[in-house]
Amino acid sequence: MTTRLSPNFTLEELCVTQHRDIDNRPPAQVIKTLRETARRMEGVRAELDDRVITVTSGYRSPELNRRVGGARTSAHLKGYAVDFNCHGFGDPARVCRALAAADLPFDQIIEEGSWCHISFDPRLRRQVLTRTRSGDYALGLLRAASRPVLASAGAMALTGCASLGGTDAAATAKLLENLRGCERSYVGTLGGLAPPTASISIRCAPDQETPR
Ligand SMILES: [Zn+2]
Repeated sequence: MTTRLSPNFTLEELCVTQHRDIDNRPPAQVIKTLRETARRMEGVRAELDDRVITVTSGYRSPELNRRVGGARTSAHLKGYAVDFNCHGFGDPARVCRALAAADLPFDQIIEEGSWCHISFDPRLRRQVLTRTRSGDYALGLLRAASRPVLASAGAMALTGCASLGGTDAAATAKLLENLRGCERSYVGTLGGLAPPTASISIRCAPDQETPR
């Protein structure tokens, strides 16, 4: 059973972890915060042309945060932070650029290289950072942005299928729409499925859980 926090985000999604031996269920206070975080993530999604967002890490219990090497004061511990990709929109640099330019409340956006980190700590400083190759954080967005690519589109589609069940015609149409702008031959293959059929099967590794 899943608990929906907002139209497009569930509690389970915002507590995702690959460390199955760790109990990552949040306390009641954090669930309240996650509901607010999900609401804010709807605003993020709207800025990204309403394309599918793949959460790679949201809330982290203290044990999980230690295990993944998160900062001791990480906003993930309180349910304020989300690491994600939006493959249908572009790479993390492109996503971060769009969000930083939008009229959105946020505390920090960090372009981490292979994912985006956004946090909604109530300070809402609108700080924008890039994690450099040396592992430091530099002010501003330093990497060039690019449009969606084949492999990441696959990961997005897989997530989309999983969350939509792949049986709902309207939802499948939405998924196809989200893939528009992705690598051409890939979209061509998917286009063969329209009008939407019972399922779309795309083999691709899902996004890895992110460490910060
Ligand atoms: Zn993060």
